[in-house]
Amino acid sequence: MPAPKRPTPASPAYPRTTFLTGAVAPRQFPPDSGIEVAFAGRSNAGKSSAINALCNRKGLARTSKTPGRTQMINFFELDPGLRLVDLPGYGYAKVPEAQRRQWRRLVESYLSGRGSLAGVVLVMDIRHPLTPFDQQLIDWCRCRETPILPLLTKADKLSHGVAVQASRQVAKALGEGSPVCFSALRHTGVEALRAALDAWWSHGDGD
Ligand code: GDP
Repeated sequence: MPAPKRPTPASPAYPRTTFLTGAVAPRQFPPDSGIEVAFAGRSNAGKSSAINALCNRKGLARTSKTPGRTQMINFFELDPGLRLVDLPGYGYAKVPEAQRRQWRRLVESYLSGRGSLAGVVLVMDIRHPLTPFDQQLIDWCRCRETPILPLLTKADKLSHGVAVQASRQVAKALGEGSPVCFSALRHTGVEALRAALDAWWSHGDGD
């Protein structure tokens, strides 16, 4: 008799997502078990809006916007052992150099040492993708062989044809991960994002 097929885990219950903890140093990270998907992006790229749309929860990622929390890595729990991780936004021109260094140390230590990290959603404004800061993040992910999913936000700002063209250019430049065109405003791309993430949620299944 053939062995029973291992059931594929269902999509997590996004609307039940809760804030778990914020960390300014690696020792404050929650235990490194289960599966994590991290969201990274330039400040103002639309990362909070994307997380809120994904989870269908308006105020969820606002947590990371409260003063003092902006340089934190924020952890959210979807289901036991499944976490979304909101990495602090980068590339904000007014940030002093010392704070930039702190950001670099924190984010690099997270990306380099996190065993439960299944992939990084790289949030980019579809009109300004692949900035030098995005490139740095891509380089870190490549070093650790962490998969990247480009999420092209604010797609409502472009016509469909131009958005498709921009998405193709990003796919070509990156050479991996099919970009998801997304609009938090129109709530488009949410299902495509969830479908792409499902592959990552099953990443550690049975480990
Ligand atoms: P974050 O700094 O990356 O977390 O960016 P936010 O989610 O706070 O968004 C930055 C700005 O872009 C806000 O004014 C949002 O209302 C706007 N924004 C975010 N997503 C979209 C979108 O899909 N379409 C449009 N038109 N504006 C958006």
